[in-house]
Amino acid sequence: MNREQSPSEGFSSSSLNTSSESEQHNEVTGSSNQQHEPLEQLPLMSAAPSNVFNYYRSIEKCRRDAIEILTESKVNFLLKEITNTNRRVHIRKGLDFRFCTTDPEHPSALREIPIGGYFNPIQENITICCDRMANPGALKETMSHEMLHVYDMARFGDLSDCNLRACAEIRAYNLTGTCDNAHKQSQYNYSREECARIHALLSTAPMCGPIQAEHSTKTVLPHCFNDHTPFDPKSQPVNIEKISSKGVFKRTSRYDF
Ligand SMILES: [Zn+2]
Repeated sequence: MNREQSPSEGFSSSSLNTSSESEQHNEVTGSSNQQHEPLEQLPLMSAAPSNVFNYYRSIEKCRRDAIEILTESKVNFLLKEITNTNRRVHIRKGLDFRFCTTDPEHPSALREIPIGGYFNPIQENITICCDRMANPGALKETMSHEMLHVYDMARFGDLSDCNLRACAEIRAYNLTGTCDNAHKQSQYNYSREECARIHALLSTAPMCGPIQAEHSTKTVLPHCFNDHTPFDPKSQPVNIEKISSKGVFKRTSRYDF
């Protein structure tokens, strides 16, 4: 996953293609002719933020709302962080909007998993599953989650390390809205920290296996839950070397969460 830096590459919010030309391609930037990677290469994903889907009846409405969301302060801040020219991970292809459940071009195994979106560093894009959004808030949550993964992948280097992967998931669930009201989610009644741990476990298990995912999330939770980079300049960044599992990576043959 390590990539050489490519000065002048990447995109900024001001360069987003919002013309009708892109509409039929369902992307903010990039081409519709991309080939999706095999399932095992799809790296970082987020569970759909709600069990109530189907808010968006059209890709275009989903895309329009996403462009609006990109102008909101916290999301825009994150966008600028991940698109500065000195990054080693890029999202040159931007955002890819799909109806993941029914899209025949979508990997069949992914159609069956209730994920809201995922970041693919090989294709350099973020896929948003518009048919799995309950409302614009869920869309914002999913976009922010995946953008923070882009940020952490550049920072951590290799997210095939299960501890670093778990750390990225803990941070994404803690910092992008999913666990903001954890204590009010009466059916679970858990703390914000427990909320982040459980969600991270579910998102880490497909790539690392359930046992390693359990171990990794538990190990890095105290460090990663308190790392609010880049949002809080006073936050203590994790010591990447210290929390790394030194390459423990158990690739599973299927997504089993
Ligand atoms: Zn995730």
